Amino acid sequence: MGLDVTPIPVLSDNYAWLLRCGETGAQAVLDPGEAGAVLRGVTGEVGLILLTHHHVDHTGGVDVLRDRWGAKVAGPKSEAGRLPRLDIGLSDGDRVEVGVCSGVAMLTPGHADGHLSYYFERAGALFTGDALFSLGCGRLLEGTAAELYHSLHRFDALPDETRVYAGHEYTLGNARFALHVDPENQALRRRVAEVEALRARGVSTLPVTLGEERATNPFLRARDVAAFAALRAEKDRF
Ligand SMILES: [Zn+2]
Repeated sequence: MGLDVTPIPVLSDNYAWLLRCGETGAQAVLDPGEAGAVLRGVTGEVGLILLTHHHVDHTGGVDVLRDRWGAKVAGPKSEAGRLPRLDIGLSDGDRVEVGVCSGVAMLTPGHADGHLSYYFERAGALFTGDALFSLGCGRLLEGTAAELYHSLHRFDALPDETRVYAGHEYTLGNARFALHVDPENQALRRRVAEVEALRARGVSTLPVTLGEERATNPFLRARDVAAFAALRAEKDRF
């Protein structure tokens, strides 16, 4: 038994993620951007609210949900001043537990200062917030291209079969840009066809495997910081 992960669509295109330990039934919610949709999407108790970064579309539901559930709130300690009140401040390498499922916080700045991703090794699940999206990456709202480039390459050590759970359903929009810069990539063309079919049925394009992203995501495939920075700037104008 592992970690069951369920998307809860919130706001216009965000995902809050429900994590449930298969062995103990313990539950956590990651990045609840609003309370109402999350309350409708969750049954049973939730003991932990986990945050990747301070943006309100990832944190807007925290205070209501904390009161409702009596849950502990965990997020980046360095950003405590602009997050809802944290019960557990996390730094790079700190561990979080959902029942017997254990994850590690990975510092992944570039989109937002102090941004944390969470990697549950045994479950093979990686929560990337707004650092890595399927076929794209976060905008550089608070950091540099070099910071985000190095953040994304922290995932290089993780296995291809790792499932990526990102903070937004941006895949279809990202696909158009990816095809624009990498039109001959056959793996990308297959992924785009799959994404179009999923979205036509209103189905989430996540999770996606890290191996699939390595084959298709132009931002992971950029050969160095300069190429990554040029790509990010071009996407901002696309
Ligand atoms: Zn954000």
